Amino acid sequence: ARLANQIAAGEVVERPASVVKELVENSLDAGATRIEVEVEKGGAKLIRIRDNGGGIDRDELTLALSRHATSKVSSLEDLERILSLGFRGEALASISSVSRLVLTSKPPSQEQAWQAMAEGREMDVRLQPASHPDGTTVEVSDLFFNTPARRRFLRTEKTEFGHIDEVVRRIALSRFDLALSLRHNGKPVRQYRAASLPSQQDKRLAAICGPAFMTSALRFDSEHHGLRLWGWLAPPSAARVQPDVQYTYVNGRMMRDKLLNHAVRQAYGDRLPAEGHGAFVLYLELDAAEVDVNVHPAKHEVRFHQARLVHDFVYQALSQALEQGES
Ligand code: ADP
Ligand code: MG
Repeated sequence: ARLANQIAAGEVVERPASVVKELVENSLDAGATRIEVEVEKGGAKLIRIRDNGGGIDRDELTLALSRHATSKVSSLEDLERILSLGFRGEALASISSVSRLVLTSKPPSQEQAWQAMAEGREMDVRLQPASHPDGTTVEVSDLFFNTPARRRFLRTEKTEFGHIDEVVRRIALSRFDLALSLRHNGKPVRQYRAASLPSQQDKRLAAICGPAFMTSALRFDSEHHGLRLWGWLAPPSAARVQPDVQYTYVNGRMMRDKLLNHAVRQAYGDRLPAEGHGAFVLYLELDAAEVDVNVHPAKHEVRFHQARLVHDFVYQALSQALEQGES
């Protein structure tokens, strides 16, 4: 079973940043409103995620670390209408098979916190009482210590940290109401406070996408037949300012989706100067039954049941926003 986990780990755990993504998504699924991410040596030495979510019962700790154990999907029907970020029950098992993992948790209903430890391919998970406030902490040390080939594949500390920072920015843009912080080698790097007011949200947007994007971007919000697209879009004249600002979310899930990208490119169309890039932060919301998120183990891709409809809606909504920005 541990070998199967290590193989699966290759699909889910490419690098420290993918561990951060999976663990933060678990915290969000657990209803956390505050998440602290701490890493050392670009995540290769340590990744620690603390949350104030619902926690894991003592009796569920060992199960949480085993493969295909998910508390989020209990029927085929659920699988066709996924609302949580996780659903495959693969992340914790995969991560623990290629690292030393400590899972500490306290659900509010439990007096005592408990801790489970797993190391590499060893099957036995050790359980012991621990001290922890309501919520969960996952500590992942020495990633890939037992898969040297993959360990060698890691890039420099700076590069790996850059990927982690990017995951944290993406999450910060997906949930403005979330308090989220990032520390590297003991130093605070990012601190996003919970932002509920539009002015606070603008501040977060500026911090992540840059002040140039913030001041030039068109805020728009379109709805049509149960599809909603909203967000910020740089007008073509300003699009060059921040060529790397390209964030798309589908039902709160960060995505790099071909269909969406195509619709965006088409909407910018001839408006962009040669070599120009659009800059945008887009949120697509639709009935969960209309999207299949179970396409890729790392959940980077989705499939829309009515692809044409979604594409045309996105294209129309963006064209309209850009046109309004021109007039
Ligand atoms: P999935 O997210 O696909 O269900 P994971 O392997 O990521 O699978 O997690 C396994 C299970 O462990 C989850 O279904 C959840 O019940 C529990 N879990 C993991 N992380 C947390 C957390 N931070 N807070 C509460 N429960 C968690
Ligand atoms: Mg998960």
